Amino acid sequence: MLQLINVGNKSLLDYGTIASRGLMEEIRRLAAQLEGKRVLHLSATAFGGGVAEILYALVPLMRDAGLDAEWRIIRGADEFFAATKTIHNALQGSPQGLTPDQEQVYRRFNEENAQDLEDDYDFVIVHDPQPAFTIERFPSSPARWIWRCHIDLSTPNQSVLDFLLPALGRYDAAIFHMNEYVPAAAGLPPSYIWPPAIDPLTPKNMALSAEDAAYIVDQFGIDVERPLLTQVSRFDPWKDPLGVIDAYREVKERFPEVQLALVGSMAHDDPEGWDYYNQTVGYAQGDPDIYILSNLNNIGGVEVNAFQVHSHAVIQKSIKEGFGLTVTEGLWKTRPTVAGRVGGIVRQIQDGETGWLVDSSAQCADACIEILRDPSEARLRALKGKEYVRRNFLMPRLLRDWLVLFNTLLGNDTAGAELAVVGAA
Ligand code: UDP
Repeated sequence: MLQLINVGNKSLLDYGTIASRGLMEEIRRLAAQLEGKRVLHLSATAFGGGVAEILYALVPLMRDAGLDAEWRIIRGADEFFAATKTIHNALQGSPQGLTPDQEQVYRRFNEENAQDLEDDYDFVIVHDPQPAFTIERFPSSPARWIWRCHIDLSTPNQSVLDFLLPALGRYDAAIFHMNEYVPAAAGLPPSYIWPPAIDPLTPKNMALSAEDAAYIVDQFGIDVERPLLTQVSRFDPWKDPLGVIDAYREVKERFPEVQLALVGSMAHDDPEGWDYYNQTVGYAQGDPDIYILSNLNNIGGVEVNAFQVHSHAVIQKSIKEGFGLTVTEGLWKTRPTVAGRVGGIVRQIQDGETGWLVDSSAQCADACIEILRDPSEARLRALKGKEYVRRNFLMPRLLRDWLVLFNTLLGNDTAGAELAVVGAA
């Protein structure tokens, strides 16, 4: 069998003080009709990235709700991940397609992984393109198959989309973050829309006092008496850390005491990430008030939490962004949040209401200056941002959406609970 991921335990009861009573009751009602149903989540990795982040919370919560849920990951190798990276980039618009060799490698790994899977589930949820062809091996599966897409397919490379479509068309449903991400292609299954969510009770997002946050960031050399701006993100051109440094420099002209932290995870086997990390370090030109930190400096969930909580402003100056969980995380911590007006970020921040949307480094700097000048006004926005996240982007809502879909696919009565659907092919 494919490797099973140990997700530990979580209790829905613990979420009772965070989610509304109506939502918790809806979850119980929807779950009652699904008692004991066998659910498989299948993904490419259990480490790093948004999907793993979500499944570590969602799978134990599905279990606590009474479903028999599990998470398994597929096996890969360099040649497979090179092919899936090409697929990933192509689906997000890169002109580079798959070579016939890569197509064959992709098929072979999917086929081999599928051989190690039992077909005894009620629901099989396949995350992202890497394991998408698993379904090909189960033409008469009794399970409902769902493809959960976490990326933006609005302007896909047509040849790569055409390669995947026959398999995608065999699913019973597909799910996208936003309406705009659904490709205009015939042959997709009915597509549902719901955004991802953060778990408010993980070490990364649980309540952390200002004193504890200061105590933690102090250990990384930050002067806790001076203002701090932070961006948490991978070292990737789309996250624009160089643009953040430009913005910081403008802010520093007005507030010379300001500091900047760029906190980004690094994978040992990601040469592109290393190149960009080095480029970012070079761009900082040894400025002692710029802190470039990563998991190599022992940055983990609690440390990310502390940096976000301690910051005067949380920045996510992305140029392209699927959803932007770091924005959700910043808002949830009642931080004034300044972010690029792109992708899923605009679904989270109402400019001028719950945060700041920016189109350039200059605008990013202006927003930070505004925040540093008038922290109490900034806090009013941040409070609204937190409330918006509470109502829209926390784990109980995500669990509810899954339960509505399961009931819908089984033809159960959902007692009025609905999902946004794009349309049937
Ligand atoms: N993250 C982290 N440590 C880092 C950098 C990122 O834990 O050094 C987390 C971040 O807190 C967030 C996730 O990785 O939960 C990134 O998700 P997002 O949607 O913002 O961007 P992605 O990396 O998926 O494009």
